This record gives sequence, structure tokens and C-alpha cells, in this order.
Amino acid sequence: MNRLDTLPPLSRVIATHGLSARKSLGQNFLLDLNLTAKIARQAGDLSACDVLEIGPGPGGLTRGLLVEGARHVLAVEKDARCLPALQEIAEAAPGRLNIINADALDLDPLAHLSSPIRVVSNLPYNVGTELLIRWLTPPEWPPFWQSLTLMFQREVAERIVAQPGGKAYGRLALLAQWRATPRIVMHLPPGAFTPPPKVSSAVVHLTALPAPRFPADPGILESVIARAFNQRRKMLRAALRGAAPDIEDRLLAAGILPTERAETVSLEQFCALARRMPGGAEG
Ligand code: SAM
Repeated sequence: MNRLDTLPPLSRVIATHGLSARKSLGQNFLLDLNLTAKIARQAGDLSACDVLEIGPGPGGLTRGLLVEGARHVLAVEKDARCLPALQEIAEAAPGRLNIINADALDLDPLAHLSSPIRVVSNLPYNVGTELLIRWLTPPEWPPFWQSLTLMFQREVAERIVAQPGGKAYGRLALLAQWRATPRIVMHLPPGAFTPPPKVSSAVVHLTALPAPRFPADPGILESVIARAFNQRRKMLRAALRGAAPDIEDRLLAAGILPTERAETVSLEQFCALARRMPGGAEG
């Protein structure tokens, strides 16, 4: 029998180690091992991959990843109270689980991982978006990860996959879709977690593109998008006033009407505009 199967149920692990959930750490735990295995499977074949897991908590998803055959898991957990529970999992999967007690925002995980790497996490909500933006905007592309399989609040997941024309569409959709293909692969109700959060959740799977979807300088593209959506109710000729001389001509050259609002402009058009801004390939 697989030694992972002999570990106690997660409710007992939590009781034994006194892991009362802390709101400040975004602790909403998944205790159903069928569910955590299902999330792990959304990441694809893990048998030839190292997996980075941020916020393993008592280890439900960690167990799922190992049971589903991950070659190696690096689990980065800020809450030292979780370490003994995670250590028990490491002992049941010799040589396959490395636990680091650190704040994921301060750690460079690459020193501890070998390619190919997939990231799979039930992220703490308070740092989830910040980590996603970091993973999507590294100095070099392609990034260190092949795919990201991440739990978010449903509203954030919908912002990542949003298409032009709605309120959810904005910076997060554009950044994610420029460099990756994001899909919502699971929806989870609040009751799937202990304690239940106030809102529903969803798992998003993002596959890294070998090169960004359309050519553009990352810095220029990000600054155009930030300006355009900072004043999303304004027409672009007003929102981007001051970003470059002759902004109306540049918008028209990129196939965008100066009277349009950011919400209706496609990723391809934003990239065309970035190329026509000062410093861009056609600027
Ligand atoms: N993966 C577990 C599960 O699915 O049951 C726990 C998920 S819980 C939503 C988020 C976890 O992230 C908690 O264990 C919390 O302690 C941890 N965490 C919060 N902030 C963190 C940070 N900055 N760095 C690393 N871990 C963090």
C-alpha cells in the first residue's frame, strides 16, 4: 500500500496539530482528498515535473499532488504551525517533498526546483493576485513555469479569462492572455473549504506560451494598459492624453477609434498601440 494512503484524515491532522484557521493568512483549507486529487489532475501529467506549491497549510493539496505522481514538490508555507503536519507527508513520500517555511513573496523558489516546473496552489487570497502578476511578468520569457494551476476567488478567476466588452476585462486579462492561455477548469462553492469563505472560488489553469501572443515591448504595453484602465470610463484619447504626442493618430494607426473606451479594445489592438508608442518598434 502507498504510504501516503496511510496518513490520517485531514480533520484529524488539523486537530492533532492545533491548526485553527487564521484569517490573516487567508486560511481556508480543503479537507476532501478526492477534491485535492482532482485539482492536482487539472495540472496535467506531473510525473516528469517539479511542482511549486505556495501555502500547503495542513497538506491536502500536497497529498493530492504526490498521490497523482508529482516527481517532486516544493511546498512554501509561511505558517510554522503547519510544518509538523507537512513533515509527516514528507516521511510518507521519501525524497519527493521539500518544505520551506517562508513568505512566498520573499523567496526565490528556483534555487530549489528543476525544470520542467508546474505551479499548483490553493493560494492565500491576500497574496494570490500579486504572485500571479509576478509569474506573468518575469524579466525573461519563456518563464520558469510550464503551467500555473491556481485557486482564486471566482471574481478574480473571471477577470483572468475575461474577453473585451465587460466589467471583468482589464489589466489582469490582458497580462494573462498576452503570455499564456488561461482557462477556468473548476468551480468550487464556499462549502468546499474549512472554514467556508464568503465567496465562491474557481481553479484557473494557465499554460505558458513559448512567446507572447503578439509582439510588443512588455514595459510599454504594461504602461499603456495601466493608463487606459486607470480611467476606464474615459475615451482613450482622454485616458491616454499625455502618454505620447499625437495620441489620436497612434490610436487610429493601431486600428482603435480615439472615442473607444479601454474595455472594448482587444489584446491585439493594445499590442499594436504599444508598438506605435514612443520607444516601440513602430513608434
Ligand atoms: N493548500 C491548503 C489547502 O488547500 O487546504 C491551504 C490553502 S489556504 C487558502 C492558504 C495557505 O497559504 C495557508 O496555509 C497560509 O498559511 C499560507 N500562506 C498565507 N500567506 C502566505 C505567504 N505569504 N507565503 C506562503 N504561504 C502563505
